[in-house]
Amino acid sequence: MENIRIQDDLYMFVNKETLDNLVIPDDRPVAGGFSELAEGVEKIMMNELDTMTASESYPNEHLERACRLYAIVKDADRKAKDGIAPALKNLAILDEIKTVEDFSRLYKTLVLKDIPTPINVDVDTDMKNTKQRLVYIQGAGVILPDASYYKPEMASQKAQLIGIWSNVAKAVMAKTDLSAEDQEKYVNDALAFDELLGGLVKTREEWSKYVEMYNPMDTAKVAEMLPNLALDTLLNDLFGSVPSTIVVTEPRYFASFATVLNADTLEIYKHWAYVTGLLKYCSFLSEELRDMGGMFMRAVMGVAKMQSIEKFAYNLVSSLYSEPVGIYYGEKYFGEEAKKDITEIVYQIIDTYRTRIRTNDILGEATKEKAILKLSTMGVKMGYPDKVRAVYDKMVFNPEDSLFDIMLTLKAVRVLDSYGKLNKPTEPENWAMPGHMVNACYDPFVNDITFPAAILQAPFYSLKQTRSENLGGIGGVIGHEISHAFDSNGAKCDENGNINDWWTEDDFKRFEAKVNQMIEQFDGIELPWGKVNGAFIVSENMADNGGMSVTLDIMSKTEGVSYQEYFCNWARVWCQKARPEYQQMLLAVDVHGPCLLRANMPPRNFSEWYSAFDVKETDQMYLSPEKRIVIW
Ligand SMILES: [Zn+2]
Repeated sequence: MENIRIQDDLYMFVNKETLDNLVIPDDRPVAGGFSELAEGVEKIMMNELDTMTASESYPNEHLERACRLYAIVKDADRKAKDGIAPALKNLAILDEIKTVEDFSRLYKTLVLKDIPTPINVDVDTDMKNTKQRLVYIQGAGVILPDASYYKPEMASQKAQLIGIWSNVAKAVMAKTDLSAEDQEKYVNDALAFDELLGGLVKTREEWSKYVEMYNPMDTAKVAEMLPNLALDTLLNDLFGSVPSTIVVTEPRYFASFATVLNADTLEIYKHWAYVTGLLKYCSFLSEELRDMGGMFMRAVMGVAKMQSIEKFAYNLVSSLYSEPVGIYYGEKYFGEEAKKDITEIVYQIIDTYRTRIRTNDILGEATKEKAILKLSTMGVKMGYPDKVRAVYDKMVFNPEDSLFDIMLTLKAVRVLDSYGKLNKPTEPENWAMPGHMVNACYDPFVNDITFPAAILQAPFYSLKQTRSENLGGIGGVIGHEISHAFDSNGAKCDENGNINDWWTEDDFKRFEAKVNQMIEQFDGIELPWGKVNGAFIVSENMADNGGMSVTLDIMSKTEGVSYQEYFCNWARVWCQKARPEYQQMLLAVDVHGPCLLRANMPPRNFSEWYSAFDVKETDQMYLSPEKRIVIW
């Protein structure tokens, strides 16, 4: 593949040299791009925690606890001494479940002990009144990465992965005190129960339609759907009272719940809970068990080696104490000057959207006014929060306990804190992502965007990069996130994040036509590791398209810019090398398209691309004008 021409393959032209020299580490499925930045942050923060620990000087009590836990997770000898015993002791509660009534009676204990159950109860924002909260129920996770693997067309992939999983499960079960016969039976029963779930729970594609989760029902009606559960008892235990409304996120699953959990399936449920629970716990037991327990997901992603104990410890601690770690990172490594500069870009992008929406031919006049209101009230969170939320004050543990028990303690703190918030107002000031995370998001139920400090670095953004490069990098991402306010999900939520159809039927028809065009643009594209599902990734592709159109608009109004720099940096941020197994999994579970398509597909819709590099009909990145889509 010598002499790649930019007009044929922007992504490879820009990234070939980097990709040629990029080596995917043994313990990772992917290298480059987002992943490289994340590794950089990881290295910096591991160093910081080591320094704090060595000098015994901690900036605050939260980071002190994080460091103490970091040391415990890194102590292989101590974990080896504890062995598998703490997990087996925890699982013993399953022996007390003799009837389905026992299950309801013990439900809260099961949750606090982190035992898998076929019904999960959460407290979350009421999507129709985002100032308050409601109780939500959802089903269980499946053994394979997604419920879509249980469809007939995935049968061969499924059989292969289930084979690997069974071997891993049997190896781990051999470490328990069960007889060889029981070990075998438990694993087979777990698979039988998983099969029940696989045909009923939602796929990622279904979950990606947020608004469809919202099915509020009278609790009495929900109780009728779940005849085998003592729902009132269960809710009373969790909340001290029975809430009048429950949101049923998975109607199909709960309509069939009586076939999932009943006197006949109780035993296979218990064995499923035992095996999947134990596999989940392995990370917090000895290093040998952590290695064994991780084998299945490593096989799914094509990863050869488990993470080093140090990296594992850091990643565990920095997710448990994510806000304190993120604030520390942000305060030390993210400058005020950069924050000011980026905030300016954000408001420039919001203003540009406002102007473009006024002249847009999808929305009618009344809808345009509401869209503009939504932009005007959009919250902007840049860098990291001012303070940690109160739950961190409760994240205390006994350092004498085993790591496994410490994890249970901390998990219980989180769960009880969340349940305790049922009748309290929501806190839209909370951040959806911590400062050290290399990512960004739009929250349709708050109507705000979050850009953690860790993504605000090169190649996305740097004070040392040109304005054109920053617009092609972070600018495109900011425009992407904002456009989620107007995608298939965002179109159903108003300026306060409430589900509220503010579009007319005609608006929506015109929008749907664009959505279908975008699905077509991607659907069925063949990649070496599989075929693209255009409908599954359409919202993200619409967002990339929006991000590009709004930043190109700003480019056209800025002096001294270079479109070549813009498009090259757009392609640079998507540079990534990934293992084929991992790519294959992403096609099934990730609402974002593959990186090389995210780099190469959007530019073809814009005239600036053609003029920047003199792209002609005979070039591979040419799209005839009638096929080009510009949405916002
Ligand atoms: Zn997105």
